[in-house]
Amino acid sequence: MYITTVGAECAPVAKVGGLADVVRGLSRELMRQGNEVEMVLPEYDCLRFDLIEDLHRVYEDLPVPFYDHRVSCSVDCGLVDGIRCFFIDPHSEHELFNRGLIYGEVDDPGRFAFFSRAVLEFLLTRDKQPDIIHCHDWHTGLVPVLRWEVFEALGLTHPHLCHTLHNLAHQGVSGDYVLRSVGLDPVRLLTPDRLSDWANPQAVNILKGAIVYSDSVTTVSPSHAREILSTDQGMGLQETLHRHRHKIHGIINGLDEEVWSPQTDRNIVQTYGPENLPGKARDKQALRRKLGLQDRSAPIVSIVSRLDRQKGVELLRHTIHYALENGCQMVLLGKASEAWIDELFQEIKRRTDGSPDCHLELGYDEELSHQIHAGADIIVIPSVYEPCGLTQMIAMKYGVVPVVRRVGGLADTVFDANYSDKAFKEVNGLVFDELTPAGLESALGRAIRLWLEYPEYFRQLRLNGMSTDSSWFEPSRQYLDIFDSIKA
Ligand code: ADP
Repeated sequence: MYITTVGAECAPVAKVGGLADVVRGLSRELMRQGNEVEMVLPEYDCLRFDLIEDLHRVYEDLPVPFYDHRVSCSVDCGLVDGIRCFFIDPHSEHELFNRGLIYGEVDDPGRFAFFSRAVLEFLLTRDKQPDIIHCHDWHTGLVPVLRWEVFEALGLTHPHLCHTLHNLAHQGVSGDYVLRSVGLDPVRLLTPDRLSDWANPQAVNILKGAIVYSDSVTTVSPSHAREILSTDQGMGLQETLHRHRHKIHGIINGLDEEVWSPQTDRNIVQTYGPENLPGKARDKQALRRKLGLQDRSAPIVSIVSRLDRQKGVELLRHTIHYALENGCQMVLLGKASEAWIDELFQEIKRRTDGSPDCHLELGYDEELSHQIHAGADIIVIPSVYEPCGLTQMIAMKYGVVPVVRRVGGLADTVFDANYSDKAFKEVNGLVFDELTPAGLESALGRAIRLWLEYPEYFRQLRLNGMSTDSSWFEPSRQYLDIFDSIKA
């Protein structure tokens, strides 16, 4: 199958968060399974050009309609981790992608609307049309709209569209100029069953357009697919999602196992695997030394997370107190998304600084995250909502036992040691439901007790987690089934 992936991010050349890893991981596995895969990205000035191989120009002058004129774009092509990737570079006085960043500009809806039109203009010029255009999140939400409203008549008749929702909190809400800028008709499209926003009917909701116009819509776990249809996790789009529920599916994300493997990880002092789990003890010792914690017989409870409302700020804070009160050591690595959250954790850091049992690192540190997974025993993820969640899957690969709230992808990947109906070999963590301190304690308390009183059982949980299949193999097959079902 011939698949063109369109997104705002792809690791490692244009990465803000998990979306970039998903785009790369899925594309690579689809290629490995014999499909023809290519990607189209904006040519941001902040691309990691040093990580693109064989970058060369394939188009000098691709004219793209924008408002009442045409913007000339050049298109470059190169290899990103073996994936053929096209980069669109508009020559416009607005410097659409020369802002030193990927997102975060007031004109983001306009920037990405332009990109969406440019992608289709580019595909139209080529000899062969893809079977599938796979788009991600709101940034590329106008691709399906343009495909059916404009490009069908221009001759782009072959591709069908799959859109993946990674985070419904961002919907790309904007004025109707954004439609006019790329040649779409606001009068026709600003209706409740098309693109008018659920909260403000005068505004355009780009993500809503993606849901309405795509042939298939996926989100990143089966539980989250159910939640967005039936709870406020639909973030206002429940009605639209419901109307299109026949085309909604949940597929769990995979992990890039080349990056996340304790057997080959270069960031840790001692590599290990299920057959030499005692090796992990050296990483625990190294972590303690690095963070100034004392060597003693105690579990290390960890948190590696964005410190954000989504992640359950109150319960993250409660985890620190509860772990310390119950004889554990505590390590937290996190970057706050808002000033009040930063202040909350800075205050705890001030109080625990110099403690032999507690270390808070408030920032983003990729290398330390590997070392924490290698050294920790327990990881706590008490999310309010979690479309998929990679952290629990990563931690399990490193033999860390997850304590998670039963929500979204956490519910689909972590199975409770005491209460799950899974086979013994498949239980791999501790799970709770209530978004309260008592809820958290009901699972974290059990995890700590297992470590202290039933070490053999705890070890088995580690091993079960390490052998959980979190590769891209099965998710890719599920995407292919969906692509097969919608392609012409
Ligand atoms: P989300 O994408 O909502 O932040 P995920 O669990 O899907 O949550 O993915 C988060 C990724 O970012 C994981 O790989 C996690 O280890 C990593 N991460 C989160 N916070 C930090 C941090 N402060 N430093 C380093 N890595 C982090």
